[in-house]
Amino acid sequence: MDIVTRKEAKERGLARYFTGKPCPHGHVAERWTSTSRCVECERKYREANLEKMREASRKYYEANPEKERERKRKYREANREKILESQRKRYEANPEKERERKRKYPEANREKIRERKRKYYEANPEKIRERQRKYREANPEKIRERHRKYREANREKILERKRKYYEANPEKIRERQRKYREANREKILERHRKYREANREKIRERHRKYREANREKILERKRKYRQGGLVEKAKRKRVEDVR
Ligand SMILES: [Zn+2]
Repeated sequence: MDIVTRKEAKERGLARYFTGKPCPHGHVAERWTSTSRCVECERKYREANLEKMREASRKYYEANPEKERERKRKYREANREKILESQRKRYEANPEKERERKRKYPEANREKIRERKRKYYEANPEKIRERQRKYREANPEKIRERHRKYREANREKILERKRKYYEANPEKIRERQRKYREANREKILERHRKYREANREKIRERHRKYREANREKILERKRKYRQGGLVEKAKRKRVEDVR
């Protein structure tokens, strides 16, 4: 190992240095630049005081959450490959356990996940929208199928939601419907025509039932219509008389 003084290590931004001289416990090992402690001594200390160390780091984390998160983020960034590799190894060593752990994670961390998603969403709205758009474009069939399944499984819920929305926004809905009809006159007529063709019997039956149930109303309407017609005729007659 090359001899590097602590001063030099500091200048070069190295985490450790090496003097070649033994520590008070006789280790000829590197030392941490930040504390000048012997790496080997520290390792032994950590091993002997695992619980204590864990507790200390937990406390530190609690006292410095932002700092800790940032440190972890940087570490992950700098060690992406290493982390992936160790994950892979862990999985290979015990696939069943890892699968089980993955399966249980969402259940055990619902709130945490929701919060994380929310934050990510807030921080990256454009990125997310773009990603969603691309996904939709690439998987139209999959999405349709998912929607269909959702509707099937949540029929009641959806109806209830619609009903509530309708009640809360009658003006908005009427306006939207009006605009839609205006923009799609032909399409709607065509749809009606097709429906009538396909349901001739059903429609006839419906009309028959309506007439049966509203005999009085219909008669009244007819009476009024005739009267109106008579009035119109009379008006026309007056106009003609004046001429
Ligand atoms: Zn030592």
